[in-house]
Amino acid sequence: MAKKQFKAESKRLLDLMINSIYTHREIFLREIISNASDAIDKLAYKALTDQNVGLTREDFRIRVTIDKDARTVTVSDNGIGMTREEMEENLGVIAHSGSFKFKSEMDKADDVDIIGQFGVGFYSAFMVSDQVTVISRAYGSDTAWKWESSGADGYTVSECEKDGVGTDVIMHIKPDAGEDRYSEFLETWRIRELIRKYSDYVRFPIRMDIEHTEYVETDEVDEQGNKKTKPVTHTEEETVNSMVPIWQRSKSEATDEACIAFYKERFHDSEDPVAVIRVNAEGLTSYRALLFIPAKAPYDFYSRDYKPGLALYSSGVMIMESCADLLPECFRFVRGVVDSPDLSLNISREILQHDRQLKTIAGNLENKVKAELMKLQSSDPEKYDTFWAAFGRQIKYGIVNEYGMKKDLLKDLLKFYSSNNEKLTTLAEYVSRMPEGQKYIYYAAADSLRTAAGLPQNEQVKAKGYELLYMTEDIDEFAVQMLYSYNDKELRSVSAGDLGLESEEEKKEQEETSDKARELLDFMKETLKDDVADVKLSKSLVSSAVCMSYEGEITLEMERYFRQMPGEAGEKIRARHVLELNPGHPAFASLTNAFENDRERAARIARVLCDQAKLLAGLPVEDMGAYTEAVCALI
Ligand code: ADP
Repeated sequence: MAKKQFKAESKRLLDLMINSIYTHREIFLREIISNASDAIDKLAYKALTDQNVGLTREDFRIRVTIDKDARTVTVSDNGIGMTREEMEENLGVIAHSGSFKFKSEMDKADDVDIIGQFGVGFYSAFMVSDQVTVISRAYGSDTAWKWESSGADGYTVSECEKDGVGTDVIMHIKPDAGEDRYSEFLETWRIRELIRKYSDYVRFPIRMDIEHTEYVETDEVDEQGNKKTKPVTHTEEETVNSMVPIWQRSKSEATDEACIAFYKERFHDSEDPVAVIRVNAEGLTSYRALLFIPAKAPYDFYSRDYKPGLALYSSGVMIMESCADLLPECFRFVRGVVDSPDLSLNISREILQHDRQLKTIAGNLENKVKAELMKLQSSDPEKYDTFWAAFGRQIKYGIVNEYGMKKDLLKDLLKFYSSNNEKLTTLAEYVSRMPEGQKYIYYAAADSLRTAAGLPQNEQVKAKGYELLYMTEDIDEFAVQMLYSYNDKELRSVSAGDLGLESEEEKKEQEETSDKARELLDFMKETLKDDVADVKLSKSLVSSAVCMSYEGEITLEMERYFRQMPGEAGEKIRARHVLELNPGHPAFASLTNAFENDRERAARIARVLCDQAKLLAGLPVEDMGAYTEAVCALI
């Protein structure tokens, strides 16, 4: 019989398939089973209106049989089948559905990976087989047809015998070659494992012969006088897949406990999640989702190894193990599955990224996650704080990332410690406590709660009876800068120059003293010109002699953050320091006195005060020699 040639594109894909990376090959079974399930779907649909089909829903099944001696794996279905024309049409060309933009993908360097992620239908059988035979009888036809191919050299079609409507796909498994152990696909346990991994939720039973071994007593007796046993094996046909996924069940069929058990097993977490989110959306894009917010961050969460994303299914068949496009970066800790019958199985990653339906789903899920977190925040603050301890940092990163695109989504999720009490507080709670006349939301930033709470600059804010937020993570000030304000209330660091606390008269008074002290301040500035950008009389100090504040974009916290970084950023990024002096402090009187009588002494006092202010702000004293010399000389 003359061999027919595959279409050119199909041939290229075949080559790709045959040479695909070993670990990707296992998806062949998923592809063949999903075709079988589609074919059954079609006939089952027909059976609803057509009495002649003669089959009811219970009759439909997929059978997977292994013949070790013949080296074949066969997938049989009693679905709609194919006519001769359909066989030629469907199995002779690739990417029929058009969802797989074959050519453009072929130019990409990682096309082999595309196979791993998505498969390309029927042809994936050639990843593990050196010969594939398809025997099919279409519904309504008396003749069966046999399609046969051993790969790139083409295929033949001939008439044959077949009982009943449906299709058998017989895959002759390749011989082992070095590292490539194809024989594993002839092992029942391995095939069963693959069905459970990829096709567990196919809506029809997938049946396999499973061997069971029992030990039965014999009449023989051993030395102890006990009856000897012998193994007896028998084979039973069993359904291997669980068919209805938990996310397809209604709330009464799948309790929260059942969902949580599913979560722990599927996502390898020993702890209960803090929230379970169920979504059942119908409309332009229908989908179901079952999402979980974990209680703790996986050990690799903040590293590159962590793989974010949700498992993506199309009617119970897994398309992708983790589809990152379904979640915004800021919610990358969310685990779960999304199942939409509207998505095609054979869709490439490239196309998936631009898929409108997928974007709609992702947008909806983003809102659902936010809403669930807000609900948790008010209904169970303790649980929320568990979440916050695990993923608060991620939320803050989310505010900073993408030029603040997500800041409105995330700002209400923020929590900080404050001077109000020992507990974490939200910005909304802070604002609700603001007394009349308070202009800004105040915060103190340092590397620990204790340092933040003890900053000298806090004093004046506290003296006014205003609450202070404490920021202790390196990301905090970046997030705050990105936010800028919350509900029209600007956020202000206590280390920033103007705290907006003084009345007009107070300001005037300040300026007058400054004028008087101008000469002294200029002298200080000159003396300390390598360390500070400015020297001022403080508006915020009550009992401390000095403090360090900053002017400009880079805050003291940011400087401390960058100082830990290697390279240029670590060496060069510095805040513009402003040394603030408390004119009411005895140290200031001492300084003034020295300035008038002994300039050398005044310079030493200036040095010591400046370095003290640095230490209080958590900054290093760069010239230790000058500092100790000054202290000793003064003593
Ligand atoms: P896709 O499933 O994306 O269309 P495939 O290459 O897997 O691509 O299959 C091509 C076509 O072959 C299917 O669309 C279907 O029409 C037909 N086909 C494959 N397997 C079967 C089967 N078991 N029963 C009936 N038709 C089938």
